Amino acid sequence: MTVNECHPNHISHKIPVGISSCLLGENVRFNGGHSRSTYCLGPLSEYFDYKQFCPEMAAGFGTPRPTMRLEGNPDQPRLVFSNKRDVVITDQLVNSNERYLDNLPELDGYIVMKNSPSCGFERIKVYQENGHPHMKRVRGLFTQSLIDRFPQLPIEEDGRLNDPLLRENFLLRVFAHHEFRNTVLNDLTMKNLIDYHSRYKYVVMAHSQPFYKSLGRLLSGQEKRPIDSLAEEYFTQFMQALSRPAKRKNHCNVLMHLVGYLKREVDSSVRQDILDVVEQYRRGEVNLTTPTTLLYHYLKLYGSEYVKEQRYFAPYPQALGIRNTV
Ligand code: SF4
Repeated sequence: MTVNECHPNHISHKIPVGISSCLLGENVRFNGGHSRSTYCLGPLSEYFDYKQFCPEMAAGFGTPRPTMRLEGNPDQPRLVFSNKRDVVITDQLVNSNERYLDNLPELDGYIVMKNSPSCGFERIKVYQENGHPHMKRVRGLFTQSLIDRFPQLPIEEDGRLNDPLLRENFLLRVFAHHEFRNTVLNDLTMKNLIDYHSRYKYVVMAHSQPFYKSLGRLLSGQEKRPIDSLAEEYFTQFMQALSRPAKRKNHCNVLMHLVGYLKREVDSSVRQDILDVVEQYRRGEVNLTTPTTLLYHYLKLYGSEYVKEQRYFAPYPQALGIRNTV
């Protein structure tokens, strides 16, 4: 797959993304119902080729089934049916999860269902002998295994996708993961790795200055190590850099850098207009799409090829309207 085929605005194929089956409207919940997600089945389905999985159905618990909960030590919780707490069903679920993960197709992201002792991403209760939940909350057992196996895979809960910043951050990571897998890992050369870094340089800068410097150093050629080990270290740090939403002030810093790429023939009043819009964004009066669209308009006319190819301007398909919300 070429770089252009991976460009979020020209992508001609759907990206493989795992998902909890109940979010797609499958009647697999304990009560025989579903938790259909209109966002996943609506806008995201235009871009994602879903690979659905219900851990509890796959483990043979059937539906309807009694509710389940986690109990005991939060560092090693056991799974039980809420109405039959003496029967521990952890192994039945975990062994089934492991079999599924052994054969998991290549994915670029995963969307899980909240509040589930199997699929929950965070804040799952672990009950103590006294019937009260432990202070420490955990992940669902399936999601924990998924993270342990694929630490760089972008994972998000459906409910958290309602938060504009978390949604933006998840989609950014999914498209970046997809591009890395297809343009770097599928043809692992130093050139492809450096080209990827060049395209994502300002995305990284918007998220973390320390990682921006560290990734630059990693690829500077000072470290003599095999390309596969270098790529692994690079992508681990890259995904850590992107693991939290970028702050508004960091976006402003990146935008100021990018204004510097406008060629000299651009009138100073145009530069000032752009800087004014960046200030409006800094003050929260406009969203991110305003300064990035204005600046890209001029960079397309008066910028170098290098700056025009920056993924910072199009990290995900524009039609998703993500930057209108952050
Ligand atoms: S939350 Fe997970 S285990 Fe529960 S019904 Fe949905 S897919 Fe199945």
